[in-house]
Amino acid sequence: MKRNLFTQEHEDFRETIRLFIAKEITPFYADWERDNRVPRELFTKLGELGVMGFDIPEEFGGTGKTSYKFQAVMDEETSRAAVSFGHYTVSTGIVLPYLLRLCNDEQKQRWLPSIATGEKTLCIAMTEPGTGSDLAGIRSTAKLSEDGTHYILNGAKTFITGAVNSELCVVVARTSPPSETDRRFGLSLMVVPTDAPGFEYGRKLEKLGLRASDTSELSFTDVKVPVADLLGEQDKGFSYLGQNLPRERLSIGSRGISSAAAAIEFAKAYVQERQVFGKPVAAFQNTKFVLAECSAEVDAGQALVDRGIELDDSGELTAADAARIKLFGTEVAARVIDKCLQLHGGYGYMLEYPIARLYADTRVSRIYGGTSEVMKTIIAKDMGL
Ligand SMILES: Cc1cc2nc3c(=O)[nH]c(=O)nc-3n(C[C@H](O)[C@H](O)[C@H](O)COP(=O)(O)OP(=O)(O)OC[C@H]3O[C@@H](n4cnc5c(N)ncnc54)[C@H](O)[C@@H]3O)c2cc1C
Repeated sequence: MKRNLFTQEHEDFRETIRLFIAKEITPFYADWERDNRVPRELFTKLGELGVMGFDIPEEFGGTGKTSYKFQAVMDEETSRAAVSFGHYTVSTGIVLPYLLRLCNDEQKQRWLPSIATGEKTLCIAMTEPGTGSDLAGIRSTAKLSEDGTHYILNGAKTFITGAVNSELCVVVARTSPPSETDRRFGLSLMVVPTDAPGFEYGRKLEKLGLRASDTSELSFTDVKVPVADLLGEQDKGFSYLGQNLPRERLSIGSRGISSAAAAIEFAKAYVQERQVFGKPVAAFQNTKFVLAECSAEVDAGQALVDRGIELDDSGELTAADAARIKLFGTEVAARVIDKCLQLHGGYGYMLEYPIARLYADTRVSRIYGGTSEVMKTIIAKDMGL
C-alpha cells in the first residue's frame, strides 16, 4: 500500500544505509553472532554516518533531527537484510532520549558530543532478578552520602543489553522508600560509567535470538555515583520511565512490522524458486492465500506504525497508543514471520536462512519493553476498564 511518510531526503538516507549494510554488516554478521557482539568500531563508523546522534542538537555534535522517521528507515533496512547493529537501537532509540529529556546543560556538554561520534554508547539497567514488569519493585539502592556529594549504589540487575559494549549505563535505583500512597515514588535514574569501581559484569546470557548483541547480568557493590550524574530530580524516576516508554514502544512496533514485511519478501523469493511435486511452491493456492493474508496484516500494521510516527513527531503519541502499536506490531510480526517460515519447509529452520534469524530475533519483541500482557493492561485502563 502506498505510504506517504517519507520524503526524498529519507529515501536518499535509505540508499546510504542500504549500501552501508551491504558493505559493513552483512559480510561479517555471522562472526558477530558467534561472538555475541559487534566490533566496537562499528559505533564510530555509525557516528561518522551521523546516525548515533539523531535527536542530539547540532551544538552538541548531533544532527538535530528529532523525527523517528530516519530511525524507521533504519528499522526497515536492517530488517530487509535480517541483521542488526548490535545494541544500537538500545543506545540511540531507547536510552539516548532519557539523556536528551533529562540532562542539564553541564551534563549535555559532558556526554552528548561523545555519544554523537559513537565513542560512547549507552545501555539501561532497569530489570532485576526479582522484578521486570513491576518496576516499582526495584530493590537496587542508591544512598546519598552524608556530605550530599554522591550516592552509594548497591544491587543486581539482569537481562541488560549492550552493557559489555557500552561506556555509560543509565541505572534505575531506589533513593528513598516508597511513600504510603505511591509505591512508585523514590526511584531515581543515574548515569554510571561501566568502568566505575564496583560496577561488575555477571554472566553473559545465552539468548534464543538477537545474538549479535550481548545481554548480561550486572552487580553494583558500593559504586560511588556523584550527584552530578543524577538524571532529572531525585525520586521521580518512575515518571521519567513513563515519559520515555511511548517512543521505545513505537520503535519496537516499527521493527516488528518491518521484520514482518521483510519475511514476506524472503518467502516470496523462496516459494518461487523451490520446486515441490514438479511445480514451484508459489503455485499452490495455499501459498498465495497465506502470503495474501500476511500482506494485508502488514499493511494494516504499517498504517498504524506510520500514524504513530506522525503522532510522535507532533508530540501527541500517548502511552496507550504506543502500547496499541507495540501490541499489534509485534503480534502481527509473530504471526507473519511464523507463516513465512512454514513456507520455507525445513530450510526455514536453518539459521543460514534469514527467515530463521528473523523468527528467533523477533520472539523477544512481545516480552521486552513491556510484555504483550502489560500492553493490554495499559490499553484496558485507557478504555476506562
Ligand atoms: C533479550 C532481552 C533483552 C532485554 N534487555 C533489557 C535491558 O537492556 N534493560 C532492562 O532493564 N531490561 C531488559 N530486558 C528485560 C525485559 O524488559 C523484561 O524481561 C520484561 O519487562 C518482562 O519482565 P520479566 O522478564 O521479569 O517478566 P515478569 O514480569 O516476571 O512476567 C512473567 C509473565 O507474567 C506476565 N505478567 C506480568 N505482569 C502482568 C499483569 N499485570 N497482568 C498479566 N500478566 C502479567 C508477563 O506478561 C509474563 O508473561 C530484556 C529482556 C530480554 C529477554
